[in-house]
Amino acid sequence: MSSPTFRDLPAVAAVLESAALIEVRRHLPPADVTAAIRAELDSLRSQMKNGSRVDLSLEPLAQRVLDRLHVTSQPTLRPVINATGIVLHTNLGRSCLAESAVSAVWRAARGYLNLELNLETGKRSHRSDAIRDGLRRLTGAESGTAVNNCAAATILVLKSLAFGKEAIVSRGQLVEIGGSFRIPEIMAASGAILKEVGTTNITRLSDYERAIGPNTGLIIRVHPSNFRIRGFTETPEIEELAALGKKHNLPVVDDVGSGLSIDLTPFGFPAEPTVADGIRAGADLVLFSGDKLLGGPQAGLIAGRADLVKRIETDPFMRAFRLDKMTLAALEATLRLYRDPARALREIPTLRMLTTPVAELQSRAETLASRLREIPNLSIRVDTDSTYVGGGSMPDHPIPTVVIVANAQGISEEEFASRLRRGTPSVMARSRDGSVIFDLRTVEPDHFDALSTAITVAAAAS
Ligand SMILES: *Cc1c(COP(=O)(O)O)cnc(C)c1O
Repeated sequence: MSSPTFRDLPAVAAVLESAALIEVRRHLPPADVTAAIRAELDSLRSQMKNGSRVDLSLEPLAQRVLDRLHVTSQPTLRPVINATGIVLHTNLGRSCLAESAVSAVWRAARGYLNLELNLETGKRSHRSDAIRDGLRRLTGAESGTAVNNCAAATILVLKSLAFGKEAIVSRGQLVEIGGSFRIPEIMAASGAILKEVGTTNITRLSDYERAIGPNTGLIIRVHPSNFRIRGFTETPEIEELAALGKKHNLPVVDDVGSGLSIDLTPFGFPAEPTVADGIRAGADLVLFSGDKLLGGPQAGLIAGRADLVKRIETDPFMRAFRLDKMTLAALEATLRLYRDPARALREIPTLRMLTTPVAELQSRAETLASRLREIPNLSIRVDTDSTYVGGGSMPDHPIPTVVIVANAQGISEEEFASRLRRGTPSVMARSRDGSVIFDLRTVEPDHFDALSTAITVAAAAS
């Protein structure tokens, strides 16, 4: 048989009429289907130009068009099963919301609500009023507000309280926190003048005091997040900075980032000051993220002195950084859960995942493993391992966990992981010594069905 020529390519109309496409033509716009057919025919043409063998028979061709339509009709943002064990995985959206927060988002999204309206008085209110009380209860602060994220909170606080003035910061805290959050650049963007004090490892209270002058706007401490200096180090406690600030009438701002709001030491975590501890120690403002250890939506929370919060809220940047109704609803619901810490630990997924006992993970792993053992072509075993909080929180603290170690026969670890990633639902796993591992720290039992199906599909011999 001679190799096919361009003239043997079927017409678009002929492909359109094929049996494989009848169903999709009912619910996809005709232009999408024709575009997919053209794309497939173009691809065949270039393969033929390169001298590759091609199959021009109608039904297999229509099937490939269907595959193209399947890929292009999927949304770009899709659900992912996080089997990495990293609870606050920034690339996977950090915290998952508690059910009550999800309901609040849903209600806020689909209807009107009193976003900036006091229903008692009929007067206009501030949209942050919805979360102010929750933030006060959580932190013990006089007032609070919220913006788009902690980066925005830092810029806004520096701009509204120290524009054109000096913001004093320790050299040991001029860090880059994940991607593009670099303290010196944030300072520059805010219009505050960076006044570095001390050295990389040692900054004393006297260094701060010497730097204070007529143009000082504030003192800021930045939690080094995922960065540690070990050995010969010294930096003043927030109490000492607060006393210094009071003496010179300067606000002291503490950017704590991850925003620990419940003591996690009973669950084996290191003692870290909570946001409330920062306020109690005298910080005038504490800044933290909504979607790290708080376990809420992406937001930047600002808690502290009412007069400072008011100045921040009247800055024109507040209008640019403010939260939308869905995020505010999620945040209010999340903060509400903290009124009962036991409930917060149970219902906020971030806290629940971090505090699940290893014995419980072990028993869940056995349950999941007994199901996965039925999958042909797959060999698995249960093992212990360690994982991390993620999101720059508690970087030095490995968390014990339980994993399922899996190998699919005849499929490389990379190929297996890639199939899992591209599947529906997508599964992000970890790799270890040539195996793919699924970490039970972030896979809860209600994901077991979907995960088993995804693994069955990915492990199938091609
Ligand atoms: C994570 C972090 C930030 C950035 O928070 P986003 O909410 O991601 O903008 C800022 N400061 C510290 C100390 C952090 O840990």
